[in-house]
Amino acid sequence: MVFPTLQGDHNTDVCIIGGGFTGLSAAIHLRERGYSVTLLEANRLAWGASGRNGGHVGVGQRVDQDRLETMVGMEHAKQLWEIGLEANDTVVGLIERFNIDCELKQGNLHVASKAGENDELREYAEHLQRHYNHTEVSYVEPAEVAQMTSGQGFHGGLLDNISKHLHPLKYAQGLAKAALSLGAQLYEHSRVLSYSEGGNVTVNTADSTVTARYLVLACNGYLEKLEPRTAGRIMPINNFMIATEPLPEVLARRLIRDDTSMSDTLFVINYWKLSADNRLLFGGGENYTRRFPNDIKAFVRKYMLQIYPELTDTRIDYGWGGTLAVTMNRMPDFGRLSAQVFYAHGYSGHGVPTATMAGKLLAEVISGSAERFDIMANIPIRPFPGGTLLRWPGLVAGMLFYSLRDRMGR
Ligand SMILES: Cc1cc2nc3c(=O)[nH]c(=O)nc-3n(C[C@H](O)[C@H](O)[C@H](O)COP(=O)(O)OP(=O)(O)OC[C@H]3O[C@@H](n4cnc5c(N)ncnc54)[C@H](O)[C@@H]3O)c2cc1C
Repeated sequence: MVFPTLQGDHNTDVCIIGGGFTGLSAAIHLRERGYSVTLLEANRLAWGASGRNGGHVGVGQRVDQDRLETMVGMEHAKQLWEIGLEANDTVVGLIERFNIDCELKQGNLHVASKAGENDELREYAEHLQRHYNHTEVSYVEPAEVAQMTSGQGFHGGLLDNISKHLHPLKYAQGLAKAALSLGAQLYEHSRVLSYSEGGNVTVNTADSTVTARYLVLACNGYLEKLEPRTAGRIMPINNFMIATEPLPEVLARRLIRDDTSMSDTLFVINYWKLSADNRLLFGGGENYTRRFPNDIKAFVRKYMLQIYPELTDTRIDYGWGGTLAVTMNRMPDFGRLSAQVFYAHGYSGHGVPTATMAGKLLAEVISGSAERFDIMANIPIRPFPGGTLLRWPGLVAGMLFYSLRDRMGR
C-alpha cells in the first residue's frame, strides 16, 4: 500500500509524527477512542526500526525484574511486569482482531554464553516463578540446551513459552491497514520540519501545516534534531541482521529444534529465529556511527558462524541494518513536554511489544487517564552525560568496553 504526501492545511485532534509501531499503534488506539488522527511519516510507513527488526516479542520489560526491583522498588517493578505482560497480549490481540498475517509463533530460548551465567538464569527463573507467578518460564540444563540447538558455545538456558516471534514488517503493515480501516489519515514522504505550541500545536512539513490539539512524537532512533528537549535522553545506535538462503527442514530443525526465537546473554546480544520459509534470520553486531558497515552480510555472518560453524557454506541472501534508540538504563523513556505534547521512545531493543503498548498508553493519557502512562513515565531516565553534542564519546567507550568483555568471556 502506498500513502499520499500531505499537502495544504489540515486540522486534526491528534497529530502523530512517525509511522512505526509506536505511531501506528497510537493511531489505532486513538481512533478507537474517537479522536481524529493525522499521522506523518518522513519515509514509508514502517521504514524505520519497525520494518527492520528481529521480530522477537519478549516477555516483561527490557531490563530483568530483579534489576528493576533495585531500580524502582518492588511495587513499581510489579506494575511494570504487568504492563510488560499486557504489551505481549496487546500484540497478539491486534494480530487477532485485525487478522494480521505475520507468522506469529511461540517461545524464546535465551542461552548462557558463559558457564558462570547458568546459576543466574536458574535463579532468575525461580525469581519469576516465586514473585511474579510466571510459571511459563523454566531453566534448561546445558545437556537439554544441546538437544534444542546445534549452536556452539552455550551452557544453560531460559525457556519462556509466553514470548513470541513474528515477521515485523508484515506486522507493521498490518497495523497500518488496521489504522486506515479505522479512519486514521496516514501520510508518507511527509517529513515534519518543525512544530510550535500555542493554543493548539502547529506542525509543519515542506508542503503542509497540521493544526492539532495534541502531538505525539513517535520517531524513536530517527528523532534527530526535531525535539532537542528529549533527544539527550536517548542515543541512536545501529543494529544489523542477515537472512540465509532457505534451509532444508532437517538443518532448520537442528539449528532451532522447536522453532522458538533464540538469543544469548552477550552485552551486544545475538538473536535469531527461522522465517516461514526456513531462512535463518540472524541479528548480531552494532555500531555507533552515522554509517552502516560497507558489507553488512560479512559483518553479521562472523557472529552467526561463531554459533553455527556448520553454516560456513550457506549462502547469505540479505543483509540490512536499522537504527534504534537506547537509554542510559535501557528502560524506555515515556513522557510529556506539555499538556499537549507526548512522546515514547528508547525501547532499547525491546520495542516490538513495548512500542505497541506505548501506542495504547499514549491513547490513554491523551484521553485523560494518565495512571498507566505514568507508571512508564515515572521510570527514572537520566540524560546521557554531555547531552546531544557530547554523549557519543562516552557511549562508544562504554559500549566498546562491554563488547570487549563479551569477547574475553566466551
Ligand atoms: C536491527 C534491529 C533489530 C531489532 N530487533 C528487535 C527485536 O527482535 N525485538 C524487539 O522488541 N525490538 C527489536 N528492535 C527494536 C524495535 O525495532 C524498535 O524498538 C521499534 O521498532 C521502535 O518502533 P518506533 O515506532 O518507536 O520507531 P521506528 O519504527 O524507528 O519508527 C520511527 C519513524 O519515525 C519517522 N520519523 C522520524 N523523524 C520524522 C519526522 N521529522 N517526520 C516524520 N517522520 C519521522 C521515521 O522515518 C521512522 O519511520 C530492533 C531494532 C533494530 C534496528
